[in-house]
Amino acid sequence: MNKSELNKIRKALVLQRQEVLEDLNRHGVANTGTAGALADEADRAEKIAESVVEHQLGYTESKLLEKIDFALQRIDEGGYGICEECGGEISMARLEAKPSVSLCIDCQSAKEKSA
Ligand SMILES: [Zn+2]
Repeated sequence: MNKSELNKIRKALVLQRQEVLEDLNRHGVANTGTAGALADEADRAEKIAESVVEHQLGYTESKLLEKIDFALQRIDEGGYGICEECGGEISMARLEAKPSVSLCIDCQSAKEKSA
């Protein structure tokens, strides 16, 4: 992978990172847990269920954020585009489509099959 390709991926990652952060803010993950003050039990249960869903959304986004940060780190320190599992090169097309991936297509599909 050459320098300009790497720069392009880096930009895409930084952009994606911003989007994920905005999503996290929008879901209000930072300030959940206000369900306790409601008098009606059913209402309360519903609120709690809602906040669980929000939590799960936040969880997925946090995981994605971790992957993005990891990818950015590898771009800066070297080793980006190398599969974590087999050490082989991840194809450029795959990285362009999903810059936060850290597994090549073979290892990814093997993992999905075993999961
Ligand atoms: Zn691999």
